Amino acid sequence: MKYVSTRGRAPRLGFAEVLLAGLARDGGLYVPEKFPRLARNELRALQGRAYAEIAARVMSPFVGGAIPRAAFERLVAETYAGFGHAAVAPLKQLGPDRWLMELFHGPTLAFKDYALQLVGRLFDHVLAKLGERVTIVGATSGDTGAAAIEACRDRERVEIFILHPRGRVSEVQRRQMTTVRSANVHNIAIEGTFDDCQDLVKAMFNDLAFRDRHRLAAVNSINWARIMAQVPYYFAAGASLGAPERALSFAVPTGNFGNVYAGYVARRMGLPIRRLIVGSNRNDILTRYLRRGVMATAKVVPTTSPSMDIQVSSNFERLLFEAWNRQSAPLAAAMEGFRRLGRADFGRERWRRIARLFAGFRLDDRGTAGAIRDIHRSCGELLDPHSAIGVAAGEALHRPGDGALVALATAHPAKFPDAVAAAAGVRPALPARLADLFERPERCTTLVNDLAGVKAFVTGRLNARARP
Ligand SMILES: *Cc1c(COP(=O)(O)O)cnc(C)c1O
Repeated sequence: MKYVSTRGRAPRLGFAEVLLAGLARDGGLYVPEKFPRLARNELRALQGRAYAEIAARVMSPFVGGAIPRAAFERLVAETYAGFGHAAVAPLKQLGPDRWLMELFHGPTLAFKDYALQLVGRLFDHVLAKLGERVTIVGATSGDTGAAAIEACRDRERVEIFILHPRGRVSEVQRRQMTTVRSANVHNIAIEGTFDDCQDLVKAMFNDLAFRDRHRLAAVNSINWARIMAQVPYYFAAGASLGAPERALSFAVPTGNFGNVYAGYVARRMGLPIRRLIVGSNRNDILTRYLRRGVMATAKVVPTTSPSMDIQVSSNFERLLFEAWNRQSAPLAAAMEGFRRLGRADFGRERWRRIARLFAGFRLDDRGTAGAIRDIHRSCGELLDPHSAIGVAAGEALHRPGDGALVALATAHPAKFPDAVAAAAGVRPALPARLADLFERPERCTTLVNDLAGVKAFVTGRLNARARP
């Protein structure tokens, strides 16, 4: 399988190169040259199979010859064997033909583990073959950093540096990062905001000498391998609920559009998906676009669902590429206009095509608290704010004929205990394997918001690690 950039001016790459590249050199995102398809009998053959088997079957065409099939199957099996539930992504019934897919049984209790746990292993595998090492540098406001650290800990060929704004991430999130004791994990608390952290990371990547010397790499959500590893749970839901004989719709709490775009990929691969329902909080740029056909940025406001406090959804470009019938030139021009003006309409025809499949729904914090309370009362399920927005969006927009409705639960309620307790009057407990999180020792270095100081720290740590 080869990959092309949405902007059309970067080289075609194979899977291993796309994994390491992240963003394409022309500023675009990599997508497969062609979506593989599963025939109806192949879909039927997924019924009753284990999650790891479904995952290997669904992903192997994307990996192609880059990793031998048996080795890839081993990596996938090992990845999901470490999850906290035997079903990996269990389905729970919420009502008649209403389902919840729990995607929080990975080590950091958010759906990002489903992709990152595999991506960390893929990095090690591919780098070992190349005889190379990388340094992952990232900024986090919470969830992503913890998931990335858990994915990279103890990986032989990876060092990971994660910057977080000191005192501005929740205690659970901070501890999930700082209590990891692996020698290749480096936590940095910056005296500043999340934006300061992000600017420091960008500046390190923009210093090409520094970037090349330390082989900097990123594991952000535009990496194709992360999208790929989010496709299998859509198929797993389909297999459990009777696809291809039965159609489905999904409701997905959305920020960067990576998760719901993976649902789109599943549909292109042959899963009978009727609708993809996007849930937003007050940062509702996608919902406004889906309703009115104009994409316009606004100021980011903090909410009780912080992992969706995003204004520009990077992965949306991948969907626009399809809506433009894969013509790069007009897409690149439109994206450039959007970047300059903070506003674009991408044309009526494309909007209509997109809005036939996708629908958007927004909930403010009060509405989110109400949804948490209602779901807890009506079926006893305690949901985190992100997941509750997904369920409410599905309820609001699902139409007769849309098939079984599956809402994706993207985080465990104990990751956001204050918001959940305030809404439902019940405090969610951490799962047993994390019960001692608050007793574990922390390891973290605090630095001031100064690029030279942060670079010196990174270099110092890498040098010390190179000669043990
Ligand atoms: C990252 C995240 C999201 C948003 O997912 P995208 O792929 O960025 O749309 C939703 N919920 C939770 C809990 C997350 O951590």
